Amino acid sequence: MNCFDARRALLTDPARLPEPIADHVSQCRRCAREAAQIRRLDRRVAEVARVPVPEGLNDRLKMAGPQPMRRRLLPWGGGAALAASLLLAWVVVGWSPSSTVSASEWMNSMVAHTVYDAAHELTPDPAAAQDFERVLRRLGGQIAAVPDGITRAGYCVLEGRGALHAVIERAGQRLVVYVIPGVATQSMLVRMQGWEGELLSAQGATVAVLGQQSDPAIEALVQSLAAAVQWS
Ligand SMILES: [Zn+2]
Ligand SMILES: [Zn+2]
Repeated sequence: MNCFDARRALLTDPARLPEPIADHVSQCRRCAREAAQIRRLDRRVAEVARVPVPEGLNDRLKMAGPQPMRRRLLPWGGGAALAASLLLAWVVVGWSPSSTVSASEWMNSMVAHTVYDAAHELTPDPAAAQDFERVLRRLGGQIAAVPDGITRAGYCVLEGRGALHAVIERAGQRLVVYVIPGVATQSMLVRMQGWEGELLSAQGATVAVLGQQSDPAIEALVQSLAAAVQWS
């Protein structure tokens, strides 16, 4: 049992954890904190769902299926409905119009998270590609073609935001990937605690790729991911 597996179980059903996972979460401070954050986020979504919404909005959300974060459903007229949609969007992905976390602070937390949630050190998981897609969907995104070489993918919380944390193997090097919707920040290069990487914001989301040696694959991957993920 490790933190990555615990995080995956938390993503699937935080209310009913299998016993070994619940044991881990009760003994691991990091996972306990993430479990509390995920439950809080889920509770807020449930609370918002009970708030009376403007006429018509319910139907639009129903048509959209279980994921309320659908930008194209934002009504173009009607302030109240727009406000309700924005509230829902904010609650689901922690979206806010102006982020107070700077690019270098994001990089700091990503490097710190990479060190303590060392998914790149785990053996490849055959279900990783499906996990990658599932976590992206939960975050309100989708990708036409899942990148090759994914060894791990999970849902993590960074700076209070839901994030996809994945590992992709390219030419023998394992690259750590973060995809965080609802965060637009300055693009930057990083060299920190033995990690080199690049952070890129596009389409209102931030994508970062970190590696343990400088490698042109880092830039290629961050750009292709930023272009390939579609936010609905
Ligand atoms: Zn843990
Ligand atoms: Zn993680």
